[in-house]
Amino acid sequence: MSGPVEHADDLCAFIDACPSPFHVCAHVGRLLDAAGFTRLSETDTWPREPGRHYVVRGGSLVAWASDTEGGPATPFRIIGAHTDSPNLRVKQHPDLTRAGWQLVALEPYGGAWLNSWLDRDLGLSGRVSVRTRDGADDRLIRIDEPVLRVPQLAIHLSADRNGVELDPQQHLNGIWAVGASGSSFRDVVAGLADVAAAAVLGWELMTHDLTGSRRVGAAKDMISAPRLDNQGTCYAGACALLDAAGGSSGSIPVLALFDHEEVGSLSARGAASDLLVSVLERVSLGRGADRQDYLRALAGSLCASGDMAHATHPNYPDRHEPAHHIAANGGPVLKVHQNLRYATDAAGAAAFALACEQADVPLQRYMHRADLPCGSTIGPITAGRTGVTTVDVGAPQLAMHSARELMGAADPAMYVAALTAFLAPDSPAAATART
Ligand code: ZN
Repeated sequence: MSGPVEHADDLCAFIDACPSPFHVCAHVGRLLDAAGFTRLSETDTWPREPGRHYVVRGGSLVAWASDTEGGPATPFRIIGAHTDSPNLRVKQHPDLTRAGWQLVALEPYGGAWLNSWLDRDLGLSGRVSVRTRDGADDRLIRIDEPVLRVPQLAIHLSADRNGVELDPQQHLNGIWAVGASGSSFRDVVAGLADVAAAAVLGWELMTHDLTGSRRVGAAKDMISAPRLDNQGTCYAGACALLDAAGGSSGSIPVLALFDHEEVGSLSARGAASDLLVSVLERVSLGRGADRQDYLRALAGSLCASGDMAHATHPNYPDRHEPAHHIAANGGPVLKVHQNLRYATDAAGAAAFALACEQADVPLQRYMHRADLPCGSTIGPITAGRTGVTTVDVGAPQLAMHSARELMGAADPAMYVAALTAFLAPDSPAAATART
């Protein structure tokens, strides 16, 4: 059983291993492989007998442990999260030469805080599709060297010393070399993928901050890291599934990690796709279910949609709902929004409150200020797509969508404990009744 420091350090290592959604899936896949899970292909016929399996669809992954007691209508306990984070991504024709510098053309993905990407040593990672004898194949690539830099304008050249407006088309290109480097961006990518430049047929490539994730502060009770939103939940969810697998809770634990949340989730692998429902149906069918059994299983299921939450910011306390203080190292967060930017209803809230009780961790309840627009997450989409009672939860952090984010070092362990209890409830009947 890992303690708070171990979980904090493990989360840092997880994040540093996962610069892109594709690397999240590969890394979680390795953790699952080591725990006896087997990867299945969606194009294959799946085994009839229950077991521990996962599928990967691009930057999304669904894993489950169906080797649990129960009949064909056994319900699911699902943890959802997203694998993507806002960042700067490489355009299709990236080579630019301007004012004696060689640039790589970048543009924002999702709601990145653009200022936070300036003056950082940036690496490069993602997926490349390359020509093969039979068609095309995917390769993961990553460069953990500082190959790119987006330099800020000197303050002396700015009309406004409080900061400059950043135009996403003009001001975010990465410097790659002084003068002409002699090799195109495609050449470098081809070298990394070990193919000829002409064999590079497509890419989804992005930058990442190279500063390592670590515990910080006078008492080292905080974590400084990129992509806490939402690899903080990918990590906690993976730990929870590994802990809950093989239990006798009467439900099938499922981990669903989706790409594309930061751009609305509507894609072939986002939360708005058929990925989760098609996997759940195939898992039920593998347990001998017919359509009625499958719908019964869904009706009894619960989903905790995990995404990071806003801790109360000490420099901007006025931006927070005053009666809903959220403390770092204060435990998991239940998120409620009257207008359903979060999916939480009373039944879902009860299920997560019971999980926190079972895990013996405190529960914090978040509401957004009524006079500020609230971001959303995969919870409402998953609830609408599956009809499964869904609760939006998270762990507290500051600086969401910055290239560097901050959270309490004690929170990952409490988040893992709560999600584990959610997947493996002591008394599953307590919170699955529909009214
Ligand atoms: Zn998020």
